[in-house]
Amino acid sequence: MSIALPDYHIHTPLCKHASGAPEEYKLHAARLGMPALCFSDHAPAPDGYDSKYRMALDDFPAYRRMIAAIQNQKPPAVGFGIEADYYPAGVEFLRTWLPRQSFDMILGSVHYIGDWAFDNPDERHLWESAGVERAWSRYFQLVGEMADTRLFDIAAHLDLPKKFGFRPPETAVRAMAAPALDRIRAAGMAIEINTAGLRKPVGEMYPAPCLLEMARARGIPICFGSDAHTPAEVGYAFPAALAAARAAGYRAAVRFKARRQIAYALPE
Ligand code: ZN
Ligand code: FE
Ligand code: FE
Ligand code: ZN
Repeated sequence: MSIALPDYHIHTPLCKHASGAPEEYKLHAARLGMPALCFSDHAPAPDGYDSKYRMALDDFPAYRRMIAAIQNQKPPAVGFGIEADYYPAGVEFLRTWLPRQSFDMILGSVHYIGDWAFDNPDERHLWESAGVERAWSRYFQLVGEMADTRLFDIAAHLDLPKKFGFRPPETAVRAMAAPALDRIRAAGMAIEINTAGLRKPVGEMYPAPCLLEMARARGIPICFGSDAHTPAEVGYAFPAALAAARAAGYRAAVRFKARRQIAYALPE
């Protein structure tokens, strides 16, 4: 059985670590009976931040054209979004650049603590010396700052630091996440249920059930994302994501058009 939830986290080869043409991602979504999908490739950063894993600023017009070329009558509907990284030195660029583009939604991500790419397999070994609780605490501070900028629509993979399995006890995570979730709520942002974690060492989607319940208690909307880096990953494990949403008490989710939230009822 396929679950026809919109997939709002999809990459393209422009980020240098995904494969498959946008048409192929759309085709896979069509096969699943998805009503909509939204591309969200890694945003450019002209200061050279993380340049190996994102499109160059010069590639951005090609990204716009690639997605526009598949925004046609043929279902599913295709949205144009971006996954932009929050890091303090990058805010100035994003503050001027993001609002000038015609995005349907903007995913906000934290992939760095200082200059440490904590979710990059090449830098995984640094977890051994980082101090797990301290790293997570700094991470959630950054997520809170990200929300405070009011630049983003969705907080991506909310507990990404668990990717390799380094995680503090749940009580500690809850205490660190609470202020970040309060700030996400204050910013009117949504969070995503991101199924990519199931494909990583942690073997669990983002966020953990306890964080999803905390988001639900605050009335923070959810959307769904596979974080597909290949066409076959579109809609990955969405039945499990739907079950997680319902278990946390959600009865509705949101998608985005021109950066406006559009609510829809979750299927049974
Ligand atoms: Zn990526
Ligand atoms: Fe990400
Ligand atoms: Fe992503
Ligand atoms: Zn991602």
